[in-house]
Amino acid sequence: MCIIPFSKAVELLKNDQIIGLPTETVYGLAGRANSPIAIQKIYTLKNRPAQNPLIIHISSAESLAEYLLEPIETLASLSSLFWPGPLTLVVPIKPHTIPTIGRAGLSTAAFRVPLLETTRALIRETGPLVAPSANISGKPSATKPEHIEADFGIDFPILETDETAALLGLESTILIYQQGRWVAGRLGAIPLARFQPILGYVPSIGDVKTALCPGQLFRHYAPDAHLTLSEEGWDESSCELYDIVVGFPERTYRGAKNIIHWGSELSPEKCAHELYTILREVDKQKQAKVFWDIRFSSNEDWNAILDRLKKASSR
Ligand code: AMP
Ligand code: MG
Repeated sequence: MCIIPFSKAVELLKNDQIIGLPTETVYGLAGRANSPIAIQKIYTLKNRPAQNPLIIHISSAESLAEYLLEPIETLASLSSLFWPGPLTLVVPIKPHTIPTIGRAGLSTAAFRVPLLETTRALIRETGPLVAPSANISGKPSATKPEHIEADFGIDFPILETDETAALLGLESTILIYQQGRWVAGRLGAIPLARFQPILGYVPSIGDVKTALCPGQLFRHYAPDAHLTLSEEGWDESSCELYDIVVGFPERTYRGAKNIIHWGSELSPEKCAHELYTILREVDKQKQAKVFWDIRFSSNEDWNAILDRLKKASSR
């Protein structure tokens, strides 16, 4: 594993190189946002479709002002409450402020202020960074340095941090500003109901067909394993038909050959944290048939997890 100190990370980024970057959501693959060369390297490394735009990571809410096409009334309250943190805001921008390649030619761009102090300190040194998840496109996101190594090799540089990286284990929630309102482009680490007190409404989740959020068009989080999600029709006897059962430690899975215990059924936070590690684990047994227990309480905190699992199980 190639863990690099802060000074080396600054040097590499300034030379248009790409590094693995810890954030509080998942690990990112970072390059300078104002370098089309670095951005192209990220698309190539990840094998990411060019139509899938990137998120610009900035070091403070104040620095958003230079990009904005026009003032947005609710922006200050959203950013003061949720930044730094796992919220991405998509807003109309002055086009010359972000290279076309980083925003897939759109007239808008996505921004967030990451929570880890190390990451923000790096951005202050290098300027804004794009940092999509550090995985090959279509594979589970990286939540450990080992995941980056598995996808990009043992020599791939990863920034050292003494903070807890990828604590959340889920990507940011994306809100898109459209016609005076915010709509959700992606479910993520912040449940949508948390925006009600500020906005006076819960942002609705965009319709995939209208391509509100281009990333929704691509298949995400696809393991090699075949996932079957257990919803209402749970029948304990079906466990024995599968190679692996992923379930809660509090429950029994009679007849299961191999059980992977997820976090507690009372802890969506712990389950989110483990999600991509387990998806990668079941992938190691190529083509394994996996039965995944998703009999959650109806608590909104599980929605983003369910969204990822549904994407992972669709073929
Ligand atoms: P990630 O792949 O986690 O870096 O997240 C990037 C996501 O942000 C993509 O799936 C995009 O669809 C979304 N996104 C980025 N920029 C825009 C934009 N200008 N308009 C709509 N969605 C965007
Ligand atoms: Mg990703």
